[in-house]
Amino acid sequence: MASGNDILSTSERNLMKDVTEDIGPLQRYRYRLTYDTTDAQYKLINAEQELRELVQKEESLTKDLDQQMRYTFRVEEIKVIESQLDDLNQQYFVLRQKWLRCRNEFTEYLSRAFDLWRSYPNWYLHPVLQRDCALKGGCCGRSCGCCLKRATASSSDHKLGIGHCSVECACCIQSRPFELIDARKAESRSLAQVSSSTYRYDDQILRASIWGLVKDNEENPLDLIKRPPVHWDI
Ligand SMILES: [Zn+2]
Ligand SMILES: [Zn+2]
Ligand SMILES: [Zn+2]
Repeated sequence: MASGNDILSTSERNLMKDVTEDIGPLQRYRYRLTYDTTDAQYKLINAEQELRELVQKEESLTKDLDQQMRYTFRVEEIKVIESQLDDLNQQYFVLRQKWLRCRNEFTEYLSRAFDLWRSYPNWYLHPVLQRDCALKGGCCGRSCGCCLKRATASSSDHKLGIGHCSVECACCIQSRPFELIDARKAESRSLAQVSSSTYRYDDQILRASIWGLVKDNEENPLDLIKRPPVHWDI
């Protein structure tokens, strides 16, 4: 996404020379020079969480619609699904603006770091984020491989919603021996929100999602997302 903050400083330009091999030094340099924008970064991560939920719900409904069209063809049920899909499109339209509001608050170094990190479609396969998904009961904790496929196999045009599992992931829903009622979904949603660097864990999620970084770790972020997935046995 074009940021309008595209003029590189001299130091960035020098660090940029290594960027095809290791983006770590450039991202860490930018991270050190970024202040006072953590709130916008957290809000953007939370907006993306909402977007993912919406896109995963859309995927389930699209499959249901496909089933109806091929096999059962009950007109009333088809109408209900179509109207739910229409509602999701409207919600996406609004949520996308919420995401943009946060994105537009990103200052120079942050803006360029974010654009660079997000130019890699597999950014969300950062081990910190895979582990987070697994810990929350998502597909990264099983061998189905759903998250790994999302960057390339998404049937949706809603690219901002690509990432790990939400309460609406169809595979996660199937794997649970119980159905989450709406109140429990709301609790789960609220617990997944990130809000403050005073929470060590939220800070980890922020660094991995926005910058590709891990605190006190100098591994190349590009190597981290190329690694084969870890099967988190929890
Ligand atoms: Zn899942
Ligand atoms: Zn799965
Ligand atoms: Zn996952």
